[in-house]
Amino acid sequence: MTRVSGRSCIVTGAAQGIGRAIGEALLEEGADVCFADINEEKVAAVAEANRERAVRCGGKVTHAVVDVTSRAQVRAMIDHAVAQFGKLDVKFNNAGVNKPMNFLDVTEENWRFIMDVNGLGCLIGMQEAAKQFIRQGTPGKIINTASVASRQGFDNVAPYCASKWGVVSLTQSGARDLAKHDITVTGFAPGVVATEMWEQVDKDLMEIGAADRPGQAMDEFSSVILKGRVATPHDITGTTTFLASKDSDYMTGQIVMIDGGMTLV
Ligand code: NAD
Repeated sequence: MTRVSGRSCIVTGAAQGIGRAIGEALLEEGADVCFADINEEKVAAVAEANRERAVRCGGKVTHAVVDVTSRAQVRAMIDHAVAQFGKLDVKFNNAGVNKPMNFLDVTEENWRFIMDVNGLGCLIGMQEAAKQFIRQGTPGKIINTASVASRQGFDNVAPYCASKWGVVSLTQSGARDLAKHDITVTGFAPGVVATEMWEQVDKDLMEIGAADRPGQAMDEFSSVILKGRVATPHDITGTTTFLASKDSDYMTGQIVMIDGGMTLV
């Protein structure tokens, strides 16, 4: 038995990057994991690639195609996971998007896109998971992906920063409102993590004249990170498995910074 054996978990934004790593780390410790993502082809392939791991570690794996901004699709995803695993114990609201723009050029469309996925998507994910926990009559854990951008502003990503500050507020408010149902809400705030997200962000930064080459932003961040390098998704998963486990049962309303010391500099 491990600290997450038998726990039934859903991770959104799990077709790649941090979400995929969170799901794989949970599987590795014997949890049941539903990888969920809007990218149908990729998320199906991730679940398939993890079948052997699930068998080896004594858990189950499935996947769901979901747009986290659609309540109907989020409900269907939860119903699917419950049908596969018998219950839901842990819900990660991890799907997120970014699209850099100079502050003066930020459009309503850019704002709505980012706030919809990162903000509304988080709210709906929290609500529907909580309703499932209440229906089951069991305790539950909701874990939200925030960011260092929920602690300070960064150049050219104002809507992203605003959305991640919103994630912190939802975490704190949800912790208060859901405590009476024995539901805890926590979050974690990565610094800079080398994932596929940065391929598009680099392109966008070059397009708006904020970078000359791919990787420039990461190099600049590295110089202000106390650990001296950006993170890999695996730098994040020790903490996320802890947050999903019984070891963190007494924590709620907190955001754990996993930023290599970036926000201290
Ligand atoms: P990523 O772009 O590599 O992966 C994000 C995943 O979310 C993708 O698979 C994408 O298909 C999915 N997705 C996007 N919109 C969706 C929607 N509407 N519904 C369902 N799925 C959707 O990103 P990542 O770097 O792994 O980031 C994961 C989370 O971590 C995000 O919330 C991001 O804001 C946050 N974060 C990332 C970093 C970083 O440096 N990479 C730092 C801090 C926080």
